[in-house]
Amino acid sequence: MSIHGYLVNLSSSTYEAPSCCSSCMGPRETEVGASISEKSGNVRTRLKMVFPYCNVCAKRARWEKVREILMGGVAALLGAALAIVAWVVDAAAGAPIRFALALLIAAGAAAALAMLTRGSRPALPATARGEAVILRDTRGTVLCTNPQFAQRLAEVNGSTARQGSQRVTVEVWAPIVALLCGVLVLLVWMKEGAARTNASASTNTSTSTSTSTNANANASASTDATASASVAAGSASTASARPASSARPPKPRAKKP
Ligand SMILES: [Zn+2]
Repeated sequence: MSIHGYLVNLSSSTYEAPSCCSSCMGPRETEVGASISEKSGNVRTRLKMVFPYCNVCAKRARWEKVREILMGGVAALLGAALAIVAWVVDAAAGAPIRFALALLIAAGAAAALAMLTRGSRPALPATARGEAVILRDTRGTVLCTNPQFAQRLAEVNGSTARQGSQRVTVEVWAPIVALLCGVLVLLVWMKEGAARTNASASTNTSTSTSTSTNANANASASTDATASASVAAGSASTASARPASSARPPKPRAKKP
């Protein structure tokens, strides 16, 4: 699935490209931009460089760019949507199994879609399913799929061409994106679940005190519990009474009972 070719170091501001298609070495008819963005710390750097193509090869290169954007969105949607289905549909299996299945299916579907939408290998002399020149970093290193073009590009720019490859292709990152989005939903579900168990635990304690007071009327078994509860209630009432009495101390009415 990785793309093999030749790496050439270019100066992003002063580079020159040979006047031929970077994929098939045919006539230069148009240009296609290659872009990359890198983040180091809080600084994001973007670089765009343009390279020559013939019209037929340019069409494939442009489709590859559209496909990358589409696959990013579709993979994210797949991961999130299937995880939400696993969350909402409370049937058949327990939640851990439902989420595991959803994540697996999402990643599998994203990988399958990426493979299905991948451009077919073009007939020689064209060399690239998509882009024939791929930017590898923001310093201006490019990966060329056509060895002849890489050689010419290196010569024109006083550089050298060396073998290299691009491993993280759409087919590789699309299932990872789907998985990550599914895991995000899973994390929200876990957080919600923890909040819900806390909430139900607190309502449980409140209902248990009310039932214990009810039980108090029937049986004396829970007297300890009700006693402590009433002590707590009493201390609460005295605590609330104190500031009121201190607010208006001269009034004797408070002491009446
Ligand atoms: Zn071409």
